[in-house]
Amino acid sequence: MNDITHRSNLPSVDRLLRDPTVSPMIEEHGRPAVTDAVREVLASARGKMAEGAFGEADLAALPRLIAERLERSARPSLRRVFNLTGTVLHTNLGRAPLPREAIEAMTSAAAACSVEFDLETGKRGDRDDHVAPLICRLTGAEAATVVNNNAAAVLLLLDTLAAGREVPVSRGDLIESGGSVRVLAFVSRAGCTLREVGTTTRTQLRDFAGAIGPETALLMNVHASNFAIEGFTAAVSDRELANLAREHRIPYVVDLGSGQLVDLRRFGLPHEPTPQEAIAAGADLVTFSGDKLLGGPQAGVIAGRADLVERIRKNPMKRAMRIDKVTIAALAAVLRLYLDPERLPERLPTLRLLTRPKAEIVAQARRLHERVAKCLKGLASVEVIECMSQIGSGSLPVDLLPSAALALRPEGEASAERLAGMLRALPVPVVGRIKEGRLLLDLRCMEDEEEFLEQLSVVPLGKGAA
Ligand SMILES: *Cc1c(COP(=O)(O)O)cnc(C)c1O
Repeated sequence: MNDITHRSNLPSVDRLLRDPTVSPMIEEHGRPAVTDAVREVLASARGKMAEGAFGEADLAALPRLIAERLERSARPSLRRVFNLTGTVLHTNLGRAPLPREAIEAMTSAAAACSVEFDLETGKRGDRDDHVAPLICRLTGAEAATVVNNNAAAVLLLLDTLAAGREVPVSRGDLIESGGSVRVLAFVSRAGCTLREVGTTTRTQLRDFAGAIGPETALLMNVHASNFAIEGFTAAVSDRELANLAREHRIPYVVDLGSGQLVDLRRFGLPHEPTPQEAIAAGADLVTFSGDKLLGGPQAGVIAGRADLVERIRKNPMKRAMRIDKVTIAALAAVLRLYLDPERLPERLPTLRLLTRPKAEIVAQARRLHERVAKCLKGLASVEVIECMSQIGSGSLPVDLLPSAALALRPEGEASAERLAGMLRALPVPVVGRIKEGRLLLDLRCMEDEEEFLEQLSVVPLGKGAA
């Protein structure tokens, strides 16, 4: 009996490994991975056999199944994606896309590099030296230091200057919005006591003044960028708070959150307070993120008075927040771009994407419309719509940017969720947002149309998707 449905007719693991179509896979993926894939494919074939659902064609398909399985398991989980969510600085999608200059610097620093080595003297150097002079020049600060992210910057600052003491914070700053950073959840770990002052919508200078006592370590203003309090709000100005702190001989610090170093109004965007403005208004220290509006890698910057920065740098806890050499390389490269603000919108992707005019995005949507519709024929109908993008990462929450999207309305069996799953299964996953039964692909961050179209047309959609 030569029945293909009998398991003894399945090739052995060894025989498959020697198969002329399978053995070249060993060269590419290594023997352990190929052996695993062969075992898994054989196990699933035996399962199909038991159900009587295995034929000649399945036998012939084994090498292809092995190749597909290898392909899938070799694919990293951290991958580049098309961010068509409409949120430019999307925390789950890695926030700021880095400029070419930063990527080149990162590649170079990936080797042995002079991260803590002074090439002139041959002696030990400091990793802050690669970025601190640039930060000082750009912000007007006397000194600066960097750590892993802004959360770490705030934590380290408070641990150094306020441990065991009190910090009055506006109640308005204590509000957290859905999904945004819980700034004060980690601040409370710094070993200082936060004293809430004012109400959620109104905090006045006299509230701060009334909260200052012998235990007060410093005054802190958390820039309320991650939420918008509607209605009547009264925020106390940096200058007033700085003066109040000075009267009491305590430092005034501002957590800016987003660290935009140029006035965004010159690019037609809403104004976001800059470190240099806070410092000029009297802040002794400012902290900000590297990967929000600054458009760089994940990092936290502390800048301001030299004596305070020095104390922070000497805090042993800084060692646990030490910034990586590759990150320093990227941050330095991004900061250097700021030395030439005129060319910034062309060179810094974050700013380039934020300043894309609506007309340009609409034109792009019209250009892509027909070809995308053709690729999705039978799955979805496609329409060009106007929409609003947002900056993201807690920046300027109330300021939306007019944009355009391809709106995919599922047809037949498909649902918007299934459509979204199919696009996520592409070689370069496409991530949009679902709204009212449609999948919207906001084109604000679409910088490589050809690659987008190519993969939409070549890859049979639906394969590998749930
Ligand atoms: C985003 C933000 C933080 C945290 O910054 P990370 O760089 O994400 O750690 C802290 N404070 C404010 C006000 C923020 O907006």
